[in-house]
Amino acid sequence: MSNEIETTSSDSAEQGSVKSAALIARETKRRRTFGIISHPDAGKTTLTEKLLLFSGAIQMAGTVKARKSGRHATSDWMEIEKQRGISVASSVMQFDFRDHIINLLDTPGHQDFSEDTYRVLTAVDSALMVIDAAKGVEAQTIKLLDVCRMRNTPIVTFMNKLDRECRDPLELLDEVESVLKIQCAPVTWPIGMGKNFRGVYHLLNDEILLFRAGDESANQDVEVIKGIDNPRLQEMFPMEMDQLRMEVELVHGASHPFNLEDFLAGIQTPVFFGSAINNFGVREILSALVDWAPAPRGRDASVRVVEPTEEPFTGFVFKIQANMDPAHRDRIAFLRVCSGRFERGMKVKHLRLGREVKVSSVVTFMASSREQVEEAYAGDIIGLPNHGNMQIGDSFSEGEMLTFTGIPYFAPDFFRQVRIRNPLKIKQLHKGLQQLGEEGAVQVFKPVSGGELVLGAVGVLQFEVVASRLMNEYGVDAVFESTSISTARWVSSDDKKALSDFENALSANVAYDAAGNLAYLATSGVNLRLTQERWPKLQFHATREHA
Ligand code: GDP
Repeated sequence: MSNEIETTSSDSAEQGSVKSAALIARETKRRRTFGIISHPDAGKTTLTEKLLLFSGAIQMAGTVKARKSGRHATSDWMEIEKQRGISVASSVMQFDFRDHIINLLDTPGHQDFSEDTYRVLTAVDSALMVIDAAKGVEAQTIKLLDVCRMRNTPIVTFMNKLDRECRDPLELLDEVESVLKIQCAPVTWPIGMGKNFRGVYHLLNDEILLFRAGDESANQDVEVIKGIDNPRLQEMFPMEMDQLRMEVELVHGASHPFNLEDFLAGIQTPVFFGSAINNFGVREILSALVDWAPAPRGRDASVRVVEPTEEPFTGFVFKIQANMDPAHRDRIAFLRVCSGRFERGMKVKHLRLGREVKVSSVVTFMASSREQVEEAYAGDIIGLPNHGNMQIGDSFSEGEMLTFTGIPYFAPDFFRQVRIRNPLKIKQLHKGLQQLGEEGAVQVFKPVSGGELVLGAVGVLQFEVVASRLMNEYGVDAVFESTSISTARWVSSDDKKALSDFENALSANVAYDAAGNLAYLATSGVNLRLTQERWPKLQFHATREHA
């Protein structure tokens, strides 16, 4: 009898486990996690809004935009979030499209540009690159694409604003290929532009999608005409069809055909043309993300690669945001789930501290309302409230010792020296900067010569944030002053003597960061190059991985 019971219970445990494995596999497969990379004003906000519109997540466009300009009352937001089950304007937006779960991670731009912008890209599986077709490849896009390249992230490209006079499409592709060093595989091709924008020709489906200035609804049907040789087209666009045929022939001859493997390897990007504000071309991008972009893949965790379908839960923190909601003074750690199934209330191990934490209060989206997460799978982002015990790069698991890699720090582009008005507060200053440095809000360098601390950032707003947090959280009134430093590199070498000689010889410009890594603070590009030439036994790095 007892035997029978035992058999039954172990059978059902086994069945449960098989069921759970199947559930995890199914849920992982239908997830797509991506971020948008673009230069300010290329149309990221507009496109985000239309993506949400197409997914049925919101009925009316205009909401994301309104949020950007801060015109909406908080209550409206909570209302929309309640109704639609999504958070429209937050750092992470989750929505459904064609039975897939899409996680769109915001990459803060404009004045908000900071290291977070880079780190968010370490948590995505693919990226959507938006280019203003009148301008072509711009500075911020170049930087962000470099970050994607570190992990060979697959990129889908959207050439936006075809309803305006743009640059020649072939020239645009050429620029992407030569500047960004990625092959272009056009999937749609524009017919005219500006006032004469007629639509796009879908090169893979051999059909023409006719352009109509969009309204703000998702149900707008695009008229489709099959076949480039369809006589109707000649009647409708006698002026444009010859030109299109010629261009298509050229494109077929000169550019790369779309190849899924090359796309997944980050070697090739499928290119779509359209107009975000007119809702034109957006559905094609969403379909490309669902059909072609990868579901969560295995991630390197130092000791081994963790597959997303493994049953035990794992994840890592890629961003920490403080005081997003004045009503909750804690910080939120953004964690990307890498494997298994996360359930609210489960116990997970904080691997750096070697401590178990019970995660009972977990939120998905930030902004004005916080939604409780019940479960999450690989690719999903969850927010863990914390009181300063989590750092960027921290790994979590159900017990196995893992350290997810690939969360980089980037050499700062802006520097300030920090001084305090009240010297009695020096201890608080150091404590505050140590914590803010660990959290990744700013990089803190301590010169070996003992001079004043140097702060480094990739966006200037970071300094303002740090100044206000020092004041509010640590009671320190700090003054930031400009310095002669223009760039920094982390320095390493197998030759310990060369390292210490370097440190002694250039002590005024050598410093340790918050994690104790040696860095060279250069006064100019020329100065950096000369130093590199003079110290051939040392390696100079523009990024460093989280220790
Ligand atoms: P972001 O800075 O990248 O988020 O860009 P926004 O979405 O705020 O767009 C910048 C400007 O470009 C705004 O004035 C938009 O209305 C405009 N814009 C966006 N998409 C299009 C488009 O397809 N055509 C035109 N003509 N303007 C657009």
